[in-house]
Formats: sequence, C-alpha cells, structure tokens
Amino acid sequence: MIHTGRHFLQIPGPTNVPDRVLRAMDRPVIDHRGPEFAKLGIEVLEGLKAIFKTESPVVMYPSSGSGAWEAAIVNTLSPGDRVLMFETGHFSNLWRDIALRHGLTVDYVSGDWRRGARPADAEQRLKEDKAHAIKAVMVVHNETSTGAVSSISEIRQAMDRANHPALLMVDTISSLASMDYRHDDWGVDVTVGGSQKGLMLPPGLSFNAVSDKALAANKTSKMPRYYWDWLEMLKPNHSGFFPYTPATNLLWGLREALLMLHEEGLDNVFRRHDRHAEATRTAVRSWGLEVWCADPKDYSSSLTAVLMPQGHSADRLREIILENFDMSLGTGLPKLAGKVFRIGHLGHFNDLMLAGALGGVEMGLRLADVPHKSGGVTAALNNLATTIQSKDQINRPASVLA
Ligand SMILES: *Cc1c(COP(=O)(O)O)cnc(C)c1O
Repeated sequence: MIHTGRHFLQIPGPTNVPDRVLRAMDRPVIDHRGPEFAKLGIEVLEGLKAIFKTESPVVMYPSSGSGAWEAAIVNTLSPGDRVLMFETGHFSNLWRDIALRHGLTVDYVSGDWRRGARPADAEQRLKEDKAHAIKAVMVVHNETSTGAVSSISEIRQAMDRANHPALLMVDTISSLASMDYRHDDWGVDVTVGGSQKGLMLPPGLSFNAVSDKALAANKTSKMPRYYWDWLEMLKPNHSGFFPYTPATNLLWGLREALLMLHEEGLDNVFRRHDRHAEATRTAVRSWGLEVWCADPKDYSSSLTAVLMPQGHSADRLREIILENFDMSLGTGLPKLAGKVFRIGHLGHFNDLMLAGALGGVEMGLRLADVPHKSGGVTAALNNLATTIQSKDQINRPASVLA
C-alpha cells in the first residue's frame, strides 16, 4: 500500500522529532574545537541541568541510552561490589545484565512486570544489610516495557529510613522531560538519560547527571574506563568542549528541544503527558481491554501497554495497523511478546495526534477481528475536551532554562 501524509511513530521511543528540531540540525558540521562550538557546548550542558532538576554536572555521550547505563556502573563501582536492583520488566533485566557482565553481584528483587519497584522491599533489604555491602540501589523510573513507574522519592525515603549509604542510580530514559523528576531533591546520585524519548531528539545522545557523592565514588572505583570516564569529560566540559568528537549536529537539535521545553514550561509538559495518558487509558477501558499496569498509582504518563484478549496476537494487530494506517505501535518485549502492544504518547505530541493514534488502534481492532466495544475514541475525545489546559496554566512562567 502506498502511504500518504505523515507516518505515525507511536512507539515509546524513538519519538516524533519536531520540525523545529530537524531544521536546527540541518546545517554544516562545525569545528568541535572552535569558538562557535564552545558556546553551543556550554549552552546545552547548562540547559540540561534544568531538565534533570540539578545543580550538579550533566555528562553527555554520543551513544544510545545503554551507554549511559554502562557509564553509571563503570564510574562508581568495582568488580565484586553488591548492588540492589528491582525486576520491573525488560529494561531492568537489561541493566542487571550489564551489571553482571561487569562482575557485580546483583541482589535482584523479583517482580511480576505489572507494577513499579516497592519501596518496602528496598527498605527491608537495606535494613538487613547491616555491614553496608550494598554499594548502589539501581532503579528504572519508567519501565518502558510495561508502562509502570517506580516512585523514586519513596525509594529515597526508604533508603534514608534504613540509614543506608548506598548510591542511588536511576534510569530515566523514558521519563525525562515527560514526567516529574528531581535529581537533587530526591537525592539521586546518578541519573541515566537518553535523547530519543521525552527530549524529542533522534537517537544518539545519552546522559549521566552526577552528584558529588557519585563523583567521590569515581575516585575509588576500580572498573577500567576510558570512553565513559566522567573526569575525562568534565575537564573540557568546563569550557564547552569534549574529550573526543561529540555528536555536533545532535547538539544543535538538543539546543532547540531545550528551548521548546522552556517555552512550554516543564510543569505544563508534565500535565500534557498526564492528560494524554489518562485519555488513552479511558479509550482502552471503553474498548473493554485491559491496561497492563495493574496498580493505578504506578501508571506511566509516557506510554500505555495494552493487554490483548486471550488468543489474539498483539503483533498481528500491529502489522494490520502499520499496513493500513501507517502507524507504528510498540511491540511486546520478550516475556510480553504478542500479549501486549504499547502506545507511546510522549514527546512532541498533541490532542489531535492522540485522537489519530487512538483512531488507528480502534480501526485496527475491527480489521483484526479483536473482540472489543466501539466508542473508545469518543470516550477519549470527551476526556480530552473536559480536561483542556486553561490559558493560565499554559502561560505560567516557564522555569526550564536558567
Ligand atoms: C529506551 C530505553 C533504554 C535503552 O536505550 P537505548 O537508547 O535503546 O540504548 C533503557 N532504559 C529505558 C527505560 C528505556 O526506555
């Protein structure tokens, strides 16, 4: 089938890249050791701090998010160290695998993939660890394979109640710039981020926000590192430069994306994601289908995973929707393959894009003969129309860039 108009990229990352960002990147490559670059480097490195809500440095790599996962580990820990992690889904599994490959001992709290990490589990494990053998608590904030969020502030409180000195490391790759996140307030030591989800950029950049305590751990960590070394980065970063060739044109895109987030205001960005998630769940329930995340307090605002009725393949539905309506939806990851599909509603997105995306799902359910009730889109539109953001909210002064 020949497709016209724009492709609907409704996977939970990479997300739709705004035309403004595409245009900002469409320019000749400049000398990354020259004065024009230094200005750009300082602008984006400083601007990122407001997104992580931190006064500490943010280190940036020309890599996918997985690189920043590895960087968090090799900069702070030593082979043989013990870490505490939580099975929230596919992405917590991957981060655990990276930890194991680096010779760490992982205490992995098992989970059913339908909710976030439980702060009570963290508190119990840490209280039992009287000798303070656990060197880091590592959590995925928004588990992109399931659409379930872990409360980082509550995990911080659990660590404090246990009076435990472990580092707190958090993966925010699919929550940063979509859901409330506070590196400093929540006492996070390393925040891991990526460019291609809430930040509205193409894939290719990753981030570590780094606390003073994490920097101190870097001094005693015995993991070999070169490419990922924070200290090698921070030296030239002070004057806006990088130790090796940065992803120059992505940085122009990042500059534009930071401006866009600044113009909208981070609080409005979060509210927008909350509204779109709520409207999506309304549609899912009206279809008579099930939201995969089982605990309402853990609902993700950046994506919704939808459980298929028994005997119906989520991947066949996705294929039919792609073929007929030119929309990509997220596949079910390993354990959930064929059982769930995921609707991404994060990043560069608005009410009518959501209406179109949900319309594509509803028509797809019909074409694929999946048992469902009609009216999901109408219910979502009613939800959107009654929760429209007032001008007051939209015009509230933005506080994204310093
Ligand atoms: C996308 C994602 C990753 C992996 O990032 P890559 O850029 O594919 O390496 C890791 N964690 C979470 C939570 C993600 O959503």
